[in-house]
Amino acid sequence: MDFQTASQRGKLVISNIGLLLSGDLKQPILDADTIVAVDGRIAAVGKAKDVDTEGATVTVDARGSALAPGLIDSHVHPVFGDWTPRQNQIGWIESFMNGGVTSMISAGEVHLPGRPKDIVGLKALAITAQRAFANFRPGGVKVIAGAPVVETGMTEADFAELAQAGVGLLGEIGLGSVKTGPEARQMVAWARKHGIRSTIHTGGPSTPGSSYIDKDVVLEADADIIGHINGGHTALPLDQIRCLCERCHRGIEIVHNGNELAGLTALRFAKELGQLERVILGTDSPAGSGVQPTGMLRLIALLSSVGDTPAELAFCFATGNTARLHALDCGLIAVGKAADFVLMDAAQHSSGKGLLDSVQKGDLPGVGMVIIDGIVRCGRSRNTPPPTRLPEIVHS
Ligand SMILES: [Zn+2]
Repeated sequence: MDFQTASQRGKLVISNIGLLLSGDLKQPILDADTIVAVDGRIAAVGKAKDVDTEGATVTVDARGSALAPGLIDSHVHPVFGDWTPRQNQIGWIESFMNGGVTSMISAGEVHLPGRPKDIVGLKALAITAQRAFANFRPGGVKVIAGAPVVETGMTEADFAELAQAGVGLLGEIGLGSVKTGPEARQMVAWARKHGIRSTIHTGGPSTPGSSYIDKDVVLEADADIIGHINGGHTALPLDQIRCLCERCHRGIEIVHNGNELAGLTALRFAKELGQLERVILGTDSPAGSGVQPTGMLRLIALLSSVGDTPAELAFCFATGNTARLHALDCGLIAVGKAADFVLMDAAQHSSGKGLLDSVQKGDLPGVGMVIIDGIVRCGRSRNTPPPTRLPEIVHS
């Protein structure tokens, strides 16, 4: 079948799932082996004998593979199409899909050459980016974009206009001229009033031209997400990271292109606070460190292995937690959610016994299939190590 042009309409049955990861921290593993999706949404989850698998348009035999919700990269910097000018690379989003990513959230289209910084121009860019990515999905990936970088001089009317035009996100505060606590707080409040979610750059400048944002500014701004709490790449001192975890209740975002020690420490603080539901994961790519098609899987393996966290919980950070904080209709294996899945197994020759053990030993899983909106988008990934067991389409 054609991976790219298949219709979302119809009935997809996935059988013989060896391990079903839900994306929900409260119950990360489901006692089920079959999923039915109708017209791109999950219609049933259960044991084969208990769900109606008749009349499938497409049947996938998971052959004992694990299935998780498709990964959500909470922090990317797309520009236009599947091209990034930062590393002059084409096809990066489709490559991420081969790393299990089915949704991405823009933290600002800041790499556009000649990016407009005047208020009319930045609003026009955000609206254009939102529209362009709503209309164009490389590899089927849902890129939620149109994230304006706020600049000094914006008024509440600008946020109202953006919201009215369909913009639902702000780019990282601190990448533009708004850098002080009081000014950031005002912009975040206006955004929130009009239903626009916000994130803030945390730590040292990422590249020449961006800024240093310390814990006092982050706390005063009160954005919905503490963007890359582990820096992008330069992190705040660990006592400031502790303070951010303890003194606000907002999302704790850990990124691949950040400081690993700071990321692991932030995870430990969240654990000690009993607030793992705040932890979300992103790559912060494209960036100076490049793009990493397996960046989300690498981060999950790092936090699980060195961070001593059960792998089934680490997958929740990259799926259900992010969907909840960003109000997305995916990221969970539950009836009514988008049929976005990644099928995986322990990589061939991993020392781990099965998917979870292999991730806890620090190995990347092998991706065997990615499904978005009920459509098979790729079979065996070209970017991960080969999985031990491989799902297959048995009827279409
Ligand atoms: Zn940043």
